[in-house]
Amino acid sequence: AAVLGLESSCDETAAAILRADGTILAEAVLSQLAEHAPYGGVVPEIAARAHLDALPQLVGQVMRQAGLGYADLAGVAATSGPGLIGGLIVGATLGKGIALAHDLPFVAVNHLEAHALTATLPGLAAGPVRFPYLLLLLSGGHCQCVEVAGVGRYRRLGTTLDDAVGEAFDKAAKLLGLPWPGGPALERLAASGDPARIPLPRPLLGRPGCDFSWSGLKTAVAHALARLPGATEQDRADLAAGFQAAVAAVLADRARHALALVPAASALVVAGGVAANAAVRAALAGAAAAAGLPLVAPPIRLCTDNAVMVAWAGVQRLRRGLPDELGHAPRPRWPLEGLAA
Ligand code: ATP
Ligand code: MG
Ligand code: FE
Repeated sequence: AAVLGLESSCDETAAAILRADGTILAEAVLSQLAEHAPYGGVVPEIAARAHLDALPQLVGQVMRQAGLGYADLAGVAATSGPGLIGGLIVGATLGKGIALAHDLPFVAVNHLEAHALTATLPGLAAGPVRFPYLLLLLSGGHCQCVEVAGVGRYRRLGTTLDDAVGEAFDKAAKLLGLPWPGGPALERLAASGDPARIPLPRPLLGRPGCDFSWSGLKTAVAHALARLPGATEQDRADLAAGFQAAVAAVLADRARHALALVPAASALVVAGGVAANAAVRAALAGAAAAAGLPLVAPPIRLCTDNAVMVAWAGVQRLRRGLPDELGHAPRPRWPLEGLAA
């Protein structure tokens, strides 16, 4: 038995098929970067239309790749929130249509749960991770510390008071004149910079709790640039390195606080596109090691938006007898706490 997963909550169109034991039979992701790049960010209407264009063909592609017919499926799982409503409607409606036509159970997957459970996929180099663990979700839209106690059992320990951390990377990168999405470009620029030359604030570092705040750091980058008229390539590299070091230090501090709140945690798990950043990973590995725990980072393609994680969440929900009604409405906002367990 296999589950088809669909992801369309932001700017990646993705489909995947997983066996119930977690074996990946097929996976495909189409990024919409080129469509959105001219606007310097994701445009919801463009995203929805691009999902509508791409998703049906992508489903056909993974079905052929897996060598399966729809009658071979045990269910269909589609991301149904949180995210951009147009894209969510496209994916959820296609998933429900396939489920209806082939008399299959449908699972309305919470995107954050899908990120949260990725580390429990068998076959990952470091995994599968045991419950409970501490998850740091670090993406363009989310910045949260979550205790993952089991499927459907989540406790949010901290969140951002303003921007998501990926958003902060993107905004700092824009100030530095880098193209969107700025995270990877900023990391490349930082490689030749001196992180200690231009002092930048480390928001909330040392404060109690596990919340995040990034807008002050971004503003500090803007002010530093204003003090460097005619900034050279080296100036910009030093600023990028300083920004990245500040983010990494704050993330490690917040992770240490969160780990202290989850004494039974088996690991520190990181997910989201920012997990691709080597300085961030190194800082988090240090925080985990200080607590005597491993840092588990799934491969980047499973850290960023993908459908393998959606199918895996679907497998686990079906295994627990938790399918959803075909009338389930996609939700632009859908906190992790309060999911059925
Ligand atoms: P969502 O928040 O809904 O999960 P998203 O598309 O915003 O979706 P991801 O695709 O997981 O999030 O990650 C994209 C973000 O990760 C962008 O903000 C990008 O700049 C950032 N990012 C990617 N690579 C790096 C890197 N090497 N260093 C820092 N940030 C990075
Ligand atoms: Mg994305
Ligand atoms: Fe995501």
